[in-house]
Amino acid sequence: MPREKGVWTYYEVKGDKLVRKLPFCERCGPGVFMADHGDRWHCGKCGLTIYKTAQSSRAGKRGER
Ligand SMILES: [Zn+2]
Repeated sequence: MPREKGVWTYYEVKGDKLVRKLPFCERCGPGVFMADHGDRWHCGKCGLTIYKTAQSSRAGKRGER
């Protein structure tokens, strides 16, 4: 799996749709992506951490790998 730096690593093309793989930071707002740390998201700007388990239970289960 390629791990290139850049904004395009945050998106994934599925069919004809562009899916955002990383969420925006809730504290910093749109434009600030959170880093993928496996089981959680982490904002390098403000330090906010969001656990994926809590997020998935809220958003519903969809395509978990
Ligand atoms: Zn932040």
